[in-house]
Amino acid sequence: MSSPCPICGKPAQAETRPFCSKRCADVDLQRWLSDRYVVPGGQDDEENPPSTDFDN
Ligand SMILES: [Zn+2]
Repeated sequence: MSSPCPICGKPAQAETRPFCSKRCADVDLQRWLSDRYVVPGGQDDEENPPSTDFDN
């Protein structure tokens, strides 16, 4: 028995477990990165490289 995709709730696929698709895996990754780097307002349209300006 497979768990549903944590992103959209569809049945997970073996290839992309625990997600239903690579897209949902990407969404989860973006969320993880957003949580870590706190990107304001961004979901998956922009790609902001993590800034390291503390060594300025
Ligand atoms: Zn999904």
